[in-house]
Amino acid sequence: MTPEHLHRLIITVTESVIAHEHELTALDQAIGDGDHGLNMRRGFEAVRNEAADLASKPFPDALKAIGNRLVMTIGGASGPLYGTLVIALGKEIAPDASNFPKALAGAVGAVMARGKSQPGQKTMLDVLVPVQEAVAAGGSGLAQRLPVIARDAALATAPVRAARGRASFLGDRSMGHVDPGARSTAIIVTAICGAWEG
Ligand code: ADP
Ligand code: MG
Repeated sequence: MTPEHLHRLIITVTESVIAHEHELTALDQAIGDGDHGLNMRRGFEAVRNEAADLASKPFPDALKAIGNRLVMTIGGASGPLYGTLVIALGKEIAPDASNFPKALAGAVGAVMARGKSQPGQKTMLDVLVPVQEAVAAGGSGLAQRLPVIARDAALATAPVRAARGRASFLGDRSMGHVDPGARSTAIIVTAICGAWEG
């Protein structure tokens, strides 16, 4: 991971999240309080504005700094959870990222512990876990397959009754809508894969 590569990764991911603000807002208006788009834009704009400085750090340190920035700026339920994911990844990953599958598994586990949540509860974990499992399984064409896995996993949250977060207050009325955090995770996964390839 060169500084140039890391810089492009940060810009691609942050710009993609910012560009999807309104879609995330609409999803959170249906089953939450409508702030997920704004929360994510605030956090990812803060990271984008520091991209040059972040990209100059060793990869694990950059991840820890990005995670801390996300915790401080996103807010809501999703801020501490995305922050936990990225900070845990930074703590576990090797400087050359050679242990990425293992580090990602640990980081997704940290989100579950932090959120007291499991996949199947209509949250970001419904995308994080299948993506993590596909990374662990490995194989060719991962950068092409992961965006499809992530998109389909986010769509598959629609019929589920929410069991965590604000949407759970709606009970059965949470059914029929895609979870905002599952969708934002799919957007991030797609952007990472695009930057990895391109
Ligand atoms: P808030 O719910 O505080 O308004 P956001 O709107 O930014 O925060 O984020 C909502 C998203 O956070 C949900 O769509 C869901 O994916 C995720 N989420 C909420 N609670 C949990 C939890 N306990 N575990 C995992 N993800 C959660
Ligand atoms: Mg919200």
